[in-house]
Amino acid sequence: VILTGERLLDSDGTLVTRHALRIDDGVIREVAPYAELRARYPAEPVLDWGEVVLVPGLVNGHAHSFQSLLRGFGDDLDFFAWRDRVLYPSAAWLTPEDMETGALWAFAEMLRAGITTVAEFFYIHDEGNENSLRIIGAARRLGIRMLFGRALYTGNRAPRRYREDPKDALARLDGLVRSTHDTRIVVAPAPHSLHAASEEAIASAAEWARAHGTVYTMHVAEGRYEVEELAARTGLAPAAYLEALGALGPEAVLVHGVHLSTADLDRIAVRGAKIVHNPGANAFLGDGIAPLRALLARNIPTCLGTDGGCTNNRLSLLDEMRLAVLLQRALHEDGSLVGAPTAFEMATATAGEVFGLPVGRLRAGYRADVVGLALDDLSLLASPNLLSSVVYAAGASAVRHVMVEGEAVVADRRVVHLDVDELRERIRSALARAGVPNGQMAL
Ligand SMILES: [Zn+2]
Repeated sequence: VILTGERLLDSDGTLVTRHALRIDDGVIREVAPYAELRARYPAEPVLDWGEVVLVPGLVNGHAHSFQSLLRGFGDDLDFFAWRDRVLYPSAAWLTPEDMETGALWAFAEMLRAGITTVAEFFYIHDEGNENSLRIIGAARRLGIRMLFGRALYTGNRAPRRYREDPKDALARLDGLVRSTHDTRIVVAPAPHSLHAASEEAIASAAEWARAHGTVYTMHVAEGRYEVEELAARTGLAPAAYLEALGALGPEAVLVHGVHLSTADLDRIAVRGAKIVHNPGANAFLGDGIAPLRALLARNIPTCLGTDGGCTNNRLSLLDEMRLAVLLQRALHEDGSLVGAPTAFEMATATAGEVFGLPVGRLRAGYRADVVGLALDDLSLLASPNLLSSVVYAAGASAVRHVMVEGEAVVADRRVVHLDVDELRERIRSALARAGVPNGQMAL
């Protein structure tokens, strides 16, 4: 098919008029002026999205999809109160079907906001793969691309349902790889965090990632307490600790990195590890602001994530791009910091590189993950600087069409494979079982 629209804006800021993508088998084969492609492939069907700017699908570098079901539960609590009064108790009632419901909800909202790839981080395993397969099933149903991070959780403070022996967890990860044959789904290990994954879990996950040519992803230095606890236990800072475990190479995708020191950042840069910055969630939970200016100064590949639907509470990379810039400017009292082109690249091409996926660019050889932003949306109307308006002005209302691997997943602002009534009923029944009548929660 030949996909065209009024404008085309690539991750590097290239902006052209009436260009088109020739897409075959879910892959972009050529990008050229529409008239030229039309003349060369007269028999090829044309998909004309009209008054839109085509941009690469946005990549959400960190999410916990089941947490959408906890949205609104304790939104004004601090991190520990939220964890102990909302997150951990939810393990008493969440069924596999509920987790699938949360995933359908989260992925639908992401698609609606122009996210075509999500790095899911999932840790309620009940010592098996059934729950993971529910999440993967939800992604397949809606058509979103996913890097599925299967957690290795060894900490003993959390609910029993999270915990596994690292060897069992990796064996189950192998099982998931064998049972997942889908070009849109990649499975990867995800040791939970510095405080809830053992040394064995972290080292073996990194080794597994290297052996399989993929990445591992892990929460690192989200809260100040984690760094203090690690120092008390090992005498080491986060990056030095990971380095000592042989887990600080290009396969390491470290999530958050709010409380990293200059020495940590230097080590991460030298070793080629990567960062997922979650400005909205970090601010929502009062964890702080990650040192984005310093990460960029060291050329550490950094992408953006939303984190869970109950710690943000939006699931939109359009919001995260904007927040990433604004928070650095507020923090450093400098209105020229970061800039729209850098934020746009973080949400697209850099994210593809972070996860080793052929996404994030509208270029031959990349997967056909494309978003059409409506040029008649009031936020983009006659914009003299489209890239800047996409980053600072546009919201999910501007997202008109979304394609993943050449397939329409959002058409005219409707999530194609979502039944909203069914989803509403599923959410209601899950919350009723959780003892939340009429969706009203009292804490
Ligand atoms: Zn997280």
